[in-house]
Amino acid sequence: MTLQAPKGTFDWLPPRSERALAVREALTAPARRAGYGYIETPVFEDTALFVRGVGESTDIVSKEMYTFEDKGGRSITLRPEGTASVVRAVLQHGLHNGQLPVKLWYSGSQFRYERAQKGRYRHFWQVGAEALGSEDPALDAELILLAVDGYAALGLTGVRLLINTLGDRECRPVYRAALQDFLRGLDLDEPTRQRIEINPLRVLDDKRPEVQERLAGAPLVVDHLCGACKAYHEEVRSLLTASGVAYTDDPRLVRGLDYYTRTTFEFVHDGLGSQSAVGGGGRYDGLSEMLGGPALPSVGWALGVDRTVLAMEAEGLFPGDGEQARVQVYGVPLGEEARRRMFLLVTELRRAGLAADMSFGGKGVKGAMKGADRSGASHAVILGERDIAAGTAQVKDLVSGEQAAVPLAEIVMTLKERLDK
Ligand code: AMP
Repeated sequence: MTLQAPKGTFDWLPPRSERALAVREALTAPARRAGYGYIETPVFEDTALFVRGVGESTDIVSKEMYTFEDKGGRSITLRPEGTASVVRAVLQHGLHNGQLPVKLWYSGSQFRYERAQKGRYRHFWQVGAEALGSEDPALDAELILLAVDGYAALGLTGVRLLINTLGDRECRPVYRAALQDFLRGLDLDEPTRQRIEINPLRVLDDKRPEVQERLAGAPLVVDHLCGACKAYHEEVRSLLTASGVAYTDDPRLVRGLDYYTRTTFEFVHDGLGSQSAVGGGGRYDGLSEMLGGPALPSVGWALGVDRTVLAMEAEGLFPGDGEQARVQVYGVPLGEEARRRMFLLVTELRRAGLAADMSFGGKGVKGAMKGADRSGASHAVILGERDIAAGTAQVKDLVSGEQAAVPLAEIVMTLKERLDK
């Protein structure tokens, strides 16, 4: 048997892979327009970054990391998310010593050893945006809006926004204690009981129906917020409303990473089955300090490219792209000399800004014309021995079937005129 891609991974192949590129482009364009700069961090980091940054009690760190020792004896981990790396890079390069907030966006592979199923992969693709170093509800609202605008630009109508607040270092501990008291009184399995002691908020995130049933009367963070957190959250909500963004308050929304404070949000799509989250994020005011940096209140999101493509497919938003043209012009050389000349002609066409391809492998006219059809090109340039002798080539409109001899020196200009609309 030939080798297969590892379990939980898949290949993006054309033409479907174009959808992923379109999604990356559309989801990040609003952030770029809002002054976010591109950052690219390594795909692997010192393991300690994620243990400290994401949190030891999270599923990600405790069960899902791809960790290995490199040849120099260092513990290395393939990144399971982007935020910790972005904060590390900001601190390392002192970006926070300049103008605040530092606004950055990224795009790339993430790795989590998860139970693989549709929409949940071990290697997946996220785009992200982070605004670091500023405590301002307008920034939380801005980031949410940028994601909302990204989904809208893709034509998605089924994305719903859920928001919540998790409080801050003033009110969160009080709430945490109240929640622990409540949870300790419930009949829960041992791993969940342990979670109560380490990270009780995560128990609220348990998806099992029998657990959810028992959580019915659990205290909610909204009832324990300090005045500052309450006002902050009200301002975020009011800015969203003023911008025409619809959202649902979800007092149980906690999310799987430890670093969140105050605003948390998630984008869900109902066409995706159990893996319904297409994106999420929130405020992480304490993360920089957890990584040894100064206080750097920040907010950001990560949106799943794979799941956004699935959501678009669920909404039927890629009509007819299976027939999408790969190129505009296709060269059909007949004979050895014609192949050399066609190679140069196609190069010229490409340099002139047209998408062009040609038949390779010495195919006869029938095979080459089939290639022209499959390429989706609207025009073929056919070059035979007689054409070469006459200093011309046949330019064929593949839609109308019309064909005319054009002097070789005028081919590029002729096609540019016809195709550059
Ligand atoms: P998170 O970093 O867990 O907040 O995830 C942010 C977004 O990334 C989610 O809403 C998903 O769209 C996507 N995502 C997270 N984990 C996976 C996965 N295992 N497979 C595919 N997409 C994922």
